[in-house]
Amino acid sequence: MIDLNHNSGCQYEAPLRPPGIAAAIGRAIDSALLARHQAQPPRRYVSSSGLGRECLRQIQYDYLAVPKDEGRDFEPATLRIFEAGHRGEDVVAAWLRVAGFDLRTHRSDGRQFGFSGLGGRFRGHIDGCVVSGPAPMIFPALWENKAVGAGPWKEIVKRGVVVVRPVYAAQIALYQAYLDLPNPALFTALNRDTLELHAELVPFDAALAQAMSDRAVQVVRASDAEELLPRAAADRSAAVCRGGMSGGSYHGACSWQDRCWRAR
Ligand code: SF4
Repeated sequence: MIDLNHNSGCQYEAPLRPPGIAAAIGRAIDSALLARHQAQPPRRYVSSSGLGRECLRQIQYDYLAVPKDEGRDFEPATLRIFEAGHRGEDVVAAWLRVAGFDLRTHRSDGRQFGFSGLGGRFRGHIDGCVVSGPAPMIFPALWENKAVGAGPWKEIVKRGVVVVRPVYAAQIALYQAYLDLPNPALFTALNRDTLELHAELVPFDAALAQAMSDRAVQVVRASDAEELLPRAAADRSAAVCRGGMSGGSYHGACSWQDRCWRAR
């Protein structure tokens, strides 16, 4: 008789999961994502999405498509997070629409709405524009969405996007100015871990939009003159270079730390 008692060691079914399948699938996806990322042509314009970063030199390196330091390009794990964030935008757009908002995200030809300045060397693309809907806000309003982890999401809920993520605030102000959408923008933040949604209205900050627009001009002009813009930090251990929190704001790690601090 088979002993079916606990601790008998009896196995009711043979294992159904071939060993190593998770690693094999993960490797296949990671190498495909990496290959796709590496095949993308470099961006040749100042992007509104990164213009609010503190360091002008970092923005300039990005604009000039200067190769990133060895080992500092995006890892597959980061590429997966980017893609999930991008798809999160579609999820939130669908939620807004089912709730009755008239949200426009693409032109009739399928392209995103956006703007271009400085002869195409300064560009931005918006997530969308809300034309009407069941909420006490003024229409039309710019819509900007971000998908973030639970930690930053809670911070945004507590202190607001303008304080916690100045880079997003700069992006919003630029879009409001260039797309002529001066009403308070609808900012939504999707919690990547719980799928909770935060929403807030961001008033138009004309001074911020002007300052960011001036920065774009400065980056393009300095690059034309082959002039390297100044660093935002006195040494490379600063949070703006190595990444982390400083002055209540988050900085991503700079991808050109070695190159920057090697330069005279
Ligand atoms: S390493 Fe620091 S100072 Fe240099 S470009 Fe990057 S952020 Fe700026």
